[in-house]
Amino acid sequence: MSRTALVLGAGLGGMVAAHSLRRLLPRTERVVLVEREEQHVFPPSLLWLMVGKRVAGDFSRPCAHAVRPGIELVRGEVTAIDPAAKTVQVGGKTLRGDALVIALGADYAPQAIPGLYEAGLCIYTLAGASAIRDALERFEGGRIAVLTATPQYKCPAAPYEAALLIDSYLRERGRRDKVAIDFYAAEPGPMMVAGAAVSAGVRAMVEARGIAYHPEHLVKSVDAQQRHLEFANGSSAQFDLLLYVPPHRAPEPVRSAGLVNDSGWIPVDRHTLATRFPDVYAVGDITVIPLKMGRPLPKAGVFAHGQAEIVAHNVAAAWTGRGKPRRFEGEGMCFIETGGARAGMGSGNFYAEPLPDVKLHSPNLLWHGAKVLYEKYWLYRQF
Ligand SMILES: Cc1cc2nc3c(=O)[nH]c(=O)nc-3n(C[C@H](O)[C@H](O)[C@H](O)COP(=O)(O)OP(=O)(O)OC[C@H]3O[C@@H](n4cnc5c(N)ncnc54)[C@H](O)[C@@H]3O)c2cc1C
Repeated sequence: MSRTALVLGAGLGGMVAAHSLRRLLPRTERVVLVEREEQHVFPPSLLWLMVGKRVAGDFSRPCAHAVRPGIELVRGEVTAIDPAAKTVQVGGKTLRGDALVIALGADYAPQAIPGLYEAGLCIYTLAGASAIRDALERFEGGRIAVLTATPQYKCPAAPYEAALLIDSYLRERGRRDKVAIDFYAAEPGPMMVAGAAVSAGVRAMVEARGIAYHPEHLVKSVDAQQRHLEFANGSSAQFDLLLYVPPHRAPEPVRSAGLVNDSGWIPVDRHTLATRFPDVYAVGDITVIPLKMGRPLPKAGVFAHGQAEIVAHNVAAAWTGRGKPRRFEGEGMCFIETGGARAGMGSGNFYAEPLPDVKLHSPNLLWHGAKVLYEKYWLYRQF
């Protein structure tokens, strides 16, 4: 009898899971992929779009084009999940999997901070990044505030890259001396999970470019009219243009399915990505994996990708009887765009104890080239 691997979400993790499952499973087994959006967007490229180095069509593709023979794409919103029964509700229909892979990522909740949505532009969405590009084109001088609304957010490097790219863009336009850039971080320092040396290295990169760095500034409210920020530590600040990373939360059907713990995310076995429900796995941003050093594994595409490959391999091994189970070991890397066609690179083992073993490599042309190549490779490989 045919079995079904049901993958929820066609983002970075879900796309890799579905493609790997299809490659590894015999055609008699079904692979079903559920996605609400028509277009797949490669998120790292949003930062280039913001500063006019990309247009949306360069890095977005119809999800339907990713569907290889033997993958059934169901377009629609997952509205409910029953992890015990391994069923989900999509557009009034019930789908059932023999294995369920939850890769629904993180939703954004800017409305959780009074005034934030009305006053600022979101770095993390296509609409927001496009509006930032337009606003930067018109910006002749004043104060730009880059803000992380909470200490935990996906891709801990991204807002720092955003600030560095904006600095570089303003220099290219000959406007940098007319603009003050302030970075208000909810967290105590950049990329803290990668260790003190990496954090200090990224902070030094930011400050060397004349960007004023304000750590532990958790925003309390924003006044859109007065362009005024109030912080939980009692301080306040003015801005002319506010760019923010929004608070994140698990999508509603995941929260109401009894899958999340007190963190608000799905706890999983850190090596197999198994949830507490048999044959139900979760990968990527939707998960929480506590590390010995006290912070969770960062939410990042590199981990979503690696975890999805492990889950696909292990489901296929169990169903076919071929191959031994594999473990996700917490290896990861990320490029840090600094502008001027340069990028730094951090890489290492995030499961190392007592502290992650991560090194930061100085910015150069090579790492920037590698990031561009990876973007091209992703779009070529998946579409
Ligand atoms: C600006 C930016 C830059 C980044 N740069 C990097 C980088 O350089 N390196 C890196 O490793 N990571 C980077 N990331 C992070 C990376 O994009 C995410 O960690 C990664 O996409 C997580 O993959 P995922 O599959 O868990 O979630 P996602 O890729 O977000 O996919 C989730 C999918 O589920 C779908 N979905 C959600 N809810 C529903 C529902 N109810 N019904 C149906 N479908 C639903 C969504 O539409 C989406 O397609 C960056 C992120 C941003 C925003």
